[in-house]
Amino acid sequence: MKLKPQTALIHSPRQAPQYIHTVQPPLFRASTIIFENTDALFNRHWTDDYDYSYGTHGTPTTFTLGDNIAKIEGGQYCLLTPSGLSAINLVNSCFLSHGDEVWVADNIYGPNMEHLRNLEQRYGIIVKVYDPICADSFQPSEQAKLIWLEAAGSVTLEFPDLINLVKKAKAKNILVALDNTWGAGLAFNAFDFSQEHLAVDISIHALTKYPSGGGDILMGSVVTQDRALHHQLYRMHAIQGISISGDDAAQVQRSLASMQLRYQHQSQSTLKLLNWLKQQAVFAQVLHPADPDNVSHAYWKETCETQQSAGLVSVIFKSEFDLAAVRKFCDQLQLFKLGFSWGGPVSLVMLYQLDQMRQLERPHLQQGILVRFCIGLEDPEDLIYDIQTALQAISI
Ligand SMILES: *Cc1c(COP(=O)(O)O)cnc(C)c1O
Repeated sequence: MKLKPQTALIHSPRQAPQYIHTVQPPLFRASTIIFENTDALFNRHWTDDYDYSYGTHGTPTTFTLGDNIAKIEGGQYCLLTPSGLSAINLVNSCFLSHGDEVWVADNIYGPNMEHLRNLEQRYGIIVKVYDPICADSFQPSEQAKLIWLEAAGSVTLEFPDLINLVKKAKAKNILVALDNTWGAGLAFNAFDFSQEHLAVDISIHALTKYPSGGGDILMGSVVTQDRALHHQLYRMHAIQGISISGDDAAQVQRSLASMQLRYQHQSQSTLKLLNWLKQQAVFAQVLHPADPDNVSHAYWKETCETQQSAGLVSVIFKSEFDLAAVRKFCDQLQLFKLGFSWGGPVSLVMLYQLDQMRQLERPHLQQGILVRFCIGLEDPEDLIYDIQTALQAISI
């Protein structure tokens, strides 16, 4: 058939060779996936993990990334979503129905709390708050369906009593979901984290942070070990239409090879900053679970055998520094940029007013304005100098 140019450019005769070896896996972009014939169409099984029938159900590019994320986190199955928050939404909407009780830590990732409060108002789900460093505060009723864990919480950085919280949940058949963004699958293995081989049921991860590593891509994942659980999530994932682009998956896949090195480096730089920050008189408190003075240090130590941490460290300014002074400090910083998120090359700073963020008593936290530093890949000495200079501008 002699084709006119407009048709020829759509039906190009050049096919990708079957075997060409490249460092990165080939990138598939697909909404439509073309069936060989009607037999293939009628025999498709989109719920199989390796069935290619439509872009929303996955391509080799997204499955490759998903396999790797599951591997890193110590699980078996992985679903990819367009953001970390959409991964949280997938879990909440898959398992919570009217009348179910869901337990969240007082230091929970804020948007997860907002999401659950919305479900509470509209669908009659009951949200209960526990103190992550006090497993006794977790008192599930017969209606309890799900508990969310975060290790550590991403602003005040308490590492939870993971072992006792998970034991309590398992004893009552309550699903355990972990927001694993901080540990990234590297600080500890969520699917085998104690001598008794305790495991969470579901691990969500904001791939936006360390796996992307660039501060430029939004993505989330939901990892499980149990096939039935995975399939429940898989069906909800499909009917919600929360799929990701092949281009984004390929970008994250490309960054994965360096993730462990970046995490280690950021972990070490953060410890250097932690030690320096602790010596500064302007701070009422410096918050990091690796600090032996930290209220949750023992939980971090027993769980994170690698002794690694995400590159986050928070400070609470002494109460004589009011909001205006702390804002001035943040505005003076040159290398630390003011912005949400973490895990990228650029160090970031964010300020929080704790009074507006917590529901339970928190005697372990001092009064004052909290500033969180996210440590990027710069030389830590330059970062210290940057903070020192900004502090001089507000010294009283
Ligand atoms: C960033 C973050 C999320 C959400 O990820 P997005 O991709 O920004 O939606 C969830 N949990 C934690 C702990 C995070 O830091």
